[in-house]
Parts: sequence; structure tokens; C-alpha cells
Amino acid sequence: MRPLEASDHVLVVGGGLAGWRFIEECRRLGFTGRITLVCAEHHPPYDRPPLSKQVLSGKWGFDEIVLATPERLAAASVEVLLGDAAVSLDGSSRTVTLASGRELVADRIVIATGTSPRHLPFGEGIVHYLRTIDDVVALKASVAALPTPARVGIIGGGFIGAEVATALHALGAEVAVLEAASAPLLSVLGPTIASWLSGLPGDAGIRLLNNQRITAIERVEGAVEVSRDDDVPLHFDVLVAGIGATPATEWLASSGLTIDKGVVVDASMCATPVIGAVGDVARFTWESVTGTTSERIEHWQVASDTATRLAQLWCTPDEPVAQLIPYFWSDQYGAKIQVLGRPSPSDDVVMVRGEPTQSWVALCVRDDVVAAIVTLRQPRALMRSRSLLTSPQSLAMALDRAPWAD
Ligand SMILES: Cc1cc2nc3c(=O)[nH]c(=O)nc-3n(C[C@H](O)[C@H](O)[C@H](O)COP(=O)(O)OP(=O)(O)OC[C@H]3O[C@@H](n4cnc5c(N)ncnc54)[C@H](O)[C@@H]3O)c2cc1C
Repeated sequence: MRPLEASDHVLVVGGGLAGWRFIEECRRLGFTGRITLVCAEHHPPYDRPPLSKQVLSGKWGFDEIVLATPERLAAASVEVLLGDAAVSLDGSSRTVTLASGRELVADRIVIATGTSPRHLPFGEGIVHYLRTIDDVVALKASVAALPTPARVGIIGGGFIGAEVATALHALGAEVAVLEAASAPLLSVLGPTIASWLSGLPGDAGIRLLNNQRITAIERVEGAVEVSRDDDVPLHFDVLVAGIGATPATEWLASSGLTIDKGVVVDASMCATPVIGAVGDVARFTWESVTGTTSERIEHWQVASDTATRLAQLWCTPDEPVAQLIPYFWSDQYGAKIQVLGRPSPSDDVVMVRGEPTQSWVALCVRDDVVAAIVTLRQPRALMRSRSLLTSPQSLAMALDRAPWAD
């Protein structure tokens, strides 16, 4: 593939972390051609992880999460079109049509539209979801309008649900988390790790209800009533749901690209030689220590790394690209959980340091290969163990090297 030239016009659709990182990396690598950034949101690119942590709990203002500050925007020399969503892409003519009716033609197109929160089949207009600055503004306003302590229900005990619960509890709310499974994070980290984490909400003063089957959500006499299978209804002042997200690909229906649980791209993040996809929306070919898979990974670090990779391939195709090892963190119930690699719920889990309720390092082992490392309150040990995922390591080799113990 020929590298980008100064006469090329690159169109980036989606102004989140991945879209912005792609632009920054292209400029860093010397691309001087025209770049246009289109985004559905009215805000310039900003960082999402603090939304459910520092921003919701009131520690940070919105200005502290801006990625594309006016200075950086000016330095990157980008034409930015905010509040105008892409509604279609014609892959053959490389034309993107916006909601306003405007048509943009480019030499290369980057799809970076991320994900949208999955909605419950009921309670529309009553339930809050959290993905954007506007969502946080709306949620904070709902909570602030209530006498303290506000009764807050969180549907979903996954990463976002747990973080929102923690932040609203810190604001003085009385919080209950309603989890569908028999423990939070069961389907992500498996039963062993989920059991080690199960005491965190209670220790933080947050009520956790597992095995919850919600059948209806209605507003009844000023409260939000949550009906449950075989149980009495619960009543809250505010209800928030964090039940996962789906890739924002509706606008690509007639693009001619392969859309299958995300925009399908190769290991270079390319769907075609001139159309790439990066970040949460991209389902990319990934070579891990346990084999080659095609996955969509909703992690901040992966959004950044995939964007960097595409920019490098388009600007400096002959240079080697860095190995991608997924990294994820979550700050919940006063603890930091960190994950390197891709754990599967069916992995064998071996705790190699610490003890279950306080702080630990665990290896997730698949077919005798260390596939992932999960830690609780052990950030240094996690980072020191990264080398275990750069090439296949058996459990015996990992225990022999024990990098977490250095
Ligand atoms: C509340 C929250 C907390 C998180 N915490 C963590 C964490 O602790 N650790 C971690 O690793 N990850 C975390 N994440 C995940 C991380 O933020 C994402 O992986 C990252 O933001 C993905 O970046 P992205 O650019 O691919 O997508 P996004 O950040 O979702 O950006 C996509 C952008 O595209 C826009 N868009 C969508 N459709 C269109 C369209 N048709 N036309 C134009 N624009 C469009 C969207 O409005 C959005 O602005 C968190 C996410 C959220 C929401």
C-alpha cells in the first residue's frame, strides 16, 4: 500500500479517543495533507474513562478530560465538524453523507464511531445510560435535584455499573446494584475471580443483589418502580443501567464493508486498502499468545493502540508496528482491578501473590499457556508481568520467572 501523500484527504468519522489518536499520530509521523474529523457529538474529542469515575464523583470538571484542546486542534490543523453524524458511507466512491445532507469525499476513510450503550427493553426515558458528557450532565442533574440520600438503583454490576455505583455513593447516595448473574463479572473473569471480588461492594457500603430478573420499570408516584420475577418490586429515585454496548455501525449498512459484530478489519486495521476502522467499533485480527482471533475489544488502551497502528501503516508502512497486548483497568468500590491479555471465563485461574479479599495477582491459564493476568490493588506487579504475554509461557515457566515478585 502506498503511504499517505500531502495531496491526500483523510476523513475520520467519530471523534472519540481512537479518531483523535489516529489524527495525532498521522501528524507526528509527518502527514501534511488535509484531515477532516466528523463527530455526532457536539464536544471536541474527550476521554471517557473519567466520566464514570472522577467526573461523576465531582473530583474533576469536564475541562480536565478534553483530548483535543483548542491548542492541540490548531496544531493538528484539522477541519472539525461536530454535531453532524455520518448517516451513510459509499465504499466504492469513498463518500460519507452526514445527517445535515453534506457529502464528503476523501482518499482514505477512518471509521472510529465506537459503541452505543445497550438499552433495556423497558424504562425508556426513565433509565439513565452513561457514555457521553451529556449523559453525565443529565445523571448529575437528576441526583442533585433529590433530597439526600437519593436512592439510586444500578442495573448491571459490570465495570461501568460498579464505577457509577462507587461515584454516586461517594456523593452521598444510597446505592443498590442489581446484577442478573449469580455474581458480577462472572461472564468476563470467570467464577473464581468473580468470587474473590464479590465482597467489594458490601465493604464499600453498597448493596449488591445478584440473580435479578427485571420484568418492568415504571414511574409510580414519583419513584421509579423496578418489578422483578418472583420478588417484591424495588423503588428508587434514580435508575442507571450499565448492561454493555453495541458497535455503532448502523450508518454502514450499505457501505459494502463486512459488518459482523463490528467493522471487520485485518491485523492492520484495514477493511479495504483505503478504509480502516479503529477503536471500539473495529473487529480486528489479533495474534495473541494463545492463537489468532478476530475480536472487538472495548478498552481505552486498545482504542489508542489500534489507532496508532493504522496511522503508522498509512504513513510509514515499512516500519514495524508494536505488539498489541490488551490492557484494561477499572476503579470500583475503592479498589483497582487491572487486566492484561484476554481472560476467558473458562480459564484455569492461579493466584500467584496476595490473598482473595485484599490484593492479589492471578494468572489465567488456557491449555497450559498464560493467556491473561488479572490483579486487584497490584498495579506494579501487573506491569512487571507484561513480559509473560509477549510470547507463549507455560504455567511452570511463569512460576519459575515470577516477574510479579521483583
Ligand atoms: C463511562 C466509561 C468508562 C470507561 N472506563 C474505562 C476504563 O476504566 N478502562 C478502559 O480501559 N476503558 C474504559 N472505557 C472504554 C473506553 O473509554 C473506550 O474503549 C474508548 O473510549 C473507545 O474509544 P473510541 O474512539 O473507539 O470510541 P468512543 O470513545 O465511543 O468515540 C466514538 C465517537 O464517535 C461518535 N459517533 C458515533 N456514531 C457516529 C456517526 N455515525 N457519525 C459521527 N460520529 C459518530 C460518538 O458520538 C463518539 O463521540 C470506558 C468507557 C466509558 C463509556
